[in-house]
Amino acid sequence: MKIALNEINKSIPDKVTLVAVSKTKPIPLLELAYNLGIRNFGENRVQEIVEKQEGLPKDIKWHFIGHLQRNKVKYIAPFVHLIHSVDSVRLLNEINKCAKKNNRKISCLLQFHIAEEENKFGLSLEESITQFGQNEPNKWENIIFCGVMGMATFTNDSNQLKKEFSTLKSIFETLKKNHFVEHSNFKEISMGMSQDYIIAIEEGSTMVRVGSALFGKR
Ligand SMILES: *Cc1c(COP(=O)(O)O)cnc(C)c1O
Repeated sequence: MKIALNEINKSIPDKVTLVAVSKTKPIPLLELAYNLGIRNFGENRVQEIVEKQEGLPKDIKWHFIGHLQRNKVKYIAPFVHLIHSVDSVRLLNEINKCAKKNNRKISCLLQFHIAEEENKFGLSLEESITQFGQNEPNKWENIIFCGVMGMATFTNDSNQLKKEFSTLKSIFETLKKNHFVEHSNFKEISMGMSQDYIIAIEEGSTMVRVGSALFGKR
């Protein structure tokens, strides 16, 4: 087992958070990563993140990055550090409810659809403007709005990647200006994966989600 942390760290500025995407990887590999100093781990399946959370040190920050079904929010609500994939108001309502039950506030990113592919989840800017025009963000008392997340098209075309990442950056700026000026936590742009995180950082990413480049192929 080998983790390419040094190589990755060299290409990520200090101000950008590295989320180590450990989905499908066994607990001993996560322990190795933990011993190298990694504290932010990303998972995309509820059952898997719950099992890993139970078996690993409590100072790990668990990021949920996959599509989240409303009936499963309750399982991650007690411990999740940041949910990257909020793609509907109904999901937001459920997270708020579960956070309240657990007597905590849950940090969330709004996921936007920036890719060409239809099969990726996410809101559109229009939808979110409509929603936050009708509802003050403070209405969700147990949610901390931390920013936005997006996944680019699976392509090597760097111009297209640039365009998609800069679209997400401008969505972030629009929302910040119109609805989240007073939300000091609204500052994160989660974009960039193993194939494209360098470009994402150039385009303003504050948080990259890197799996295979760190841990090897899945
Ligand atoms: C799997 C996954 C990643 C990491 O992908 P790699 O290509 O292995 O870096 C990042 N974000 C999301 C949402 C993922 O599902």
